[in-house]
Amino acid sequence: MTEGPTARLRALQIEEKFKGEVLQDVFVRSKKIHVEPSLLIGKKLKMATSFGKNILLYFNGYIIRIHLMMYGSIRFEKKYSKPFRQVRLALFFPEENLVIYNAPIIEIDEAKRLEKWLHENYGIDPLTNWDKEKLKQLILKEKERKIGDLLLDQSIFNGIGNILRNEILFRAGINPERSIKEMSIEEIERLMKNTRSLCKKFLELKKKGKGIKPILLVYNRKICPKCGGKLVFYRQEPNKRKTFYCPVCQK
Ligand SMILES: [Zn+2]
Repeated sequence: MTEGPTARLRALQIEEKFKGEVLQDVFVRSKKIHVEPSLLIGKKLKMATSFGKNILLYFNGYIIRIHLMMYGSIRFEKKYSKPFRQVRLALFFPEENLVIYNAPIIEIDEAKRLEKWLHENYGIDPLTNWDKEKLKQLILKEKERKIGDLLLDQSIFNGIGNILRNEILFRAGINPERSIKEMSIEEIERLMKNTRSLCKKFLELKKKGKGIKPILLVYNRKICPKCGGKLVFYRQEPNKRKTFYCPVCQK
């Protein structure tokens, strides 16, 4: 499962491996190809970065956007390690190739147009465009919505997935069913602070090659690590995602 910190790590790994390398050839299977892919051939990979759960590869004037969703995977390899029919994108570099397998979103467009679209459709990513005041304004506009649902809205909390959502709410001590209008500014600020620090912590673990397990206090767990009481599990409406919370510690 890809959350923002996972996309960030993959972008850093791609940059480390391929930055400055000249693209020799490209193969792509996608409907979101807005410019002729061969225009990228002969260009250097200038930068790889992330924006929420998106991975962005910059080639002079163009961007390739990759979204791994649930099933996509990225490999650095000389030969395809999976069946060719699963290949969605292959970037051929002199030493090794960057290959994306299975159902992700692959988009190729002019850099300016894609950047504009990204900024119109995505909100604040705690790891790339952190802006406390802007995030607070975006949250406060959604008075009627539940905080547990808002945390999954990529146009507000860009890069937060279901696991991080549960863990952020627990650390902030906030019940996922609370609506924004029921929350105080202090609670919203506490939630934002925890959002950023948990994303950073997750990224640090990822960089060390570790999984998310060390930071899971409630996700897929039964007992509250703070009070020892029983955690509640249900699927929250309207997102229907797995939700875990402590009725004692989360108000
Ligand atoms: Zn508790």
